[in-house]
Parts: sequence; structure tokens; C-alpha cells
Amino acid sequence: MEIKLIKSKNSKISNVDYDNLGFCKYYTDHMFICDYIDGSWQNFIIQPFQDLSLSPACTTLHYGQTIFEGLKAYRNQEGEILIFRPDKNAERFNKSAERMCMPKIPEDIFIKSIEELLSVEKAWVPEGEKNSLYIRPISFALDPYIGIKPADNYKFMIICGMAGGYYSEPVNVKIETHYTRAVSGGVGFSKTAANYAAALYPAVEAQKEGYHQLIWTDGKSHEFVEESGTMNLFFVINNQLVTPPLGDTVLDGVTRDSIIHLSKLLNIDVDVRKVSVKEVISSLESGSMSEAFGAGTAATIAPIKSIGYNNKKYNLPEISEKSISNTLLNKLSNIKFGRELTELNWLKKISK
Ligand SMILES: *Cc1c(COP(=O)(O)O)cnc(C)c1O
Repeated sequence: MEIKLIKSKNSKISNVDYDNLGFCKYYTDHMFICDYIDGSWQNFIIQPFQDLSLSPACTTLHYGQTIFEGLKAYRNQEGEILIFRPDKNAERFNKSAERMCMPKIPEDIFIKSIEELLSVEKAWVPEGEKNSLYIRPISFALDPYIGIKPADNYKFMIICGMAGGYYSEPVNVKIETHYTRAVSGGVGFSKTAANYAAALYPAVEAQKEGYHQLIWTDGKSHEFVEESGTMNLFFVINNQLVTPPLGDTVLDGVTRDSIIHLSKLLNIDVDVRKVSVKEVISSLESGSMSEAFGAGTAATIAPIKSIGYNNKKYNLPEISEKSISNTLLNKLSNIKFGRELTELNWLKKISK
């Protein structure tokens, strides 16, 4: 795989306000782009970050045949750059692609293109425990065609944006029992545009009521909690860490998988099982739920401070230093920054 490099003439990096990184407020100087034509991926290029030119009939704009990924790179104390579990994102990208009738990307091309882009953009991986470079691979249909069928031509691209701390404050979430994010047999497990477009209206309604996010329930009976926004859900009930199972309505988060794995290493009792709304409310009422948090690449672990249900707000206790979520967050950070050597093989170092 040959990647052509067209370097940008002027770097934008001097514009960065490091005290105020936000989330993808600053895109890096370059992007990776390639084409799927005649049944194969080709024309691999790293070029200056720039706008695209598309036909107004481009099928993605009309019918949404598009998928994405999200992962992060960190700078360790030695100044080296480490990418966290890109193989998991490659795998999930291809699951999303299959469901959306899109061409898969060989995992080695997916990972190599990230590595090559990052080796050009090294300077953009910020220092600091809370900071990282967010990597956003995306693929979309290109055919200028009005009509419903899988396209013949696609693009695969990678852009990167700097990321500071995400939600700094614990969040208020609302259990959604009217609107539905995903149904069995649908596309909920796929990181495809439709899931996010469909979630906007219910989320905006909840924001008007003062919530940050929704807790989605199953589309059939709204009896079981599934996930929250772009995060998987964890609860600590009777000192046991509990998370709903996967399936085709829940996105298979890399953070979720990492947390389950690390819990086992830390001897934290973890149970993957269905969690009913009833159980959430009764354990909040009785005080047996001591923690609740979302888990995803963007925020890592987002503590939940209150859960709304049926016009009632239930508060969670304040998070202590010794909480399970803090223990897991520290462990995860130690691994991501390469401070703790493990046999997990979760880090890919940019060597050049
Ligand atoms: C991306 C995403 C997650 C979290 O996945 P990570 O791999 O941990 O970032 C969870 N739920 C939804 C709906 C998502 O889009």
C-alpha cells in the first residue's frame, strides 16, 4: 500500500489555545483519503485538510449510506505517541460497513492509514493527562444516483481533531420511555449516521428539561435500559458493577469492553446482564445504587449525578476518590499513557 503525501504549506498549529482545546475545535493540518472504485480501495493520499466536492445527487446526502469510527491517540511522558486499540475500531468499522451494504476496509489498511497520518501529524497530539488527539475515520457512498441501492463508489477518509477534557461535570440524564434509538433487527449496533440523526430530536427535548443526555431503553417495551447518547452504561448496584448486554440494539463500545476487562483484572465484581428501569429506580430509591456512569472514547468515563424518570429526579451520591469509576478511570489512564505495562497489547506506538 503506497500512500502519496502532499504536505500542507502552512501549519495551523500556532493558532491552538492549549488552555481551551475543547473537542475537535482544532482539526489537524492533514487528512487521509482514498477511493473505492471497481471493487477495490485505491488512490491513498495524505493531503492538506480541505473541503470536498460532491455531486448534489451523491447518495450519502439523500439516503445516508455512511459510517464512522472514533478513537484516540495519547502522548506519554517520553513524548511517544500511542494509539488505543485501533484493531477494535477496524473490526467494528467493518461490522458497520457490512450492515450498511458498504465495502469493508482490510484491517491492515485501516490501521496503517491511521499510523501514517499520525506520523505526519505528531505535533498535534497534545501533552497532558486529559488531552488527546481524536481520530475520526469515515466512509461514505459517492455515486450521483437518485434511487435506493447500494452505491458502487465510496470514499474512506480520516480526519483528526484535538481533544481536551470532555464533560468535566457529572451529568444529568433522563430515562427515555417514548422515543426509540434502536430496534431489534435495526442498525443500532452500527456506527452509522441514521442512529445519530434520529436521536437528535429526543435529545433536544430532554435538554429543554435541563438534562444533558438520555438513557435509551429497548424499543419494544421501554422496560430495559440500553445505552446513553454515545456512551455505554454502567451502574454500581450493591457494590457490583453491572452493564447491559450487547446485541443488535447496542453499540459495542471499546471503552465498555476495556472496562469489563480491567474490572476482572482488578477483582471488581462485574456482571453483564439486563438492567430494568424498575431496578434502576428501586435501587436509586433504596440507595443500593452507589454509582452510575457512561463509558465512551470521547468522555472516557462520564459520571452521572442524577437520573430523571417520569418527571422525578433521583440523585446519586457524590463520587469519592475510592469509587469504582475512579479506580477504573485511573487504571485505564495508566494503560492509555503507557505508565502501566500490561500484557494486553492495547497500544500501538507510532514509531517514526
Ligand atoms: C461510539 C459509541 C459508543 C462508545 O464506543 P467507544 O468505542 O467506547 O467509543 C457507545 N454508544 C454509541 C451509540 C456510540 O456511537
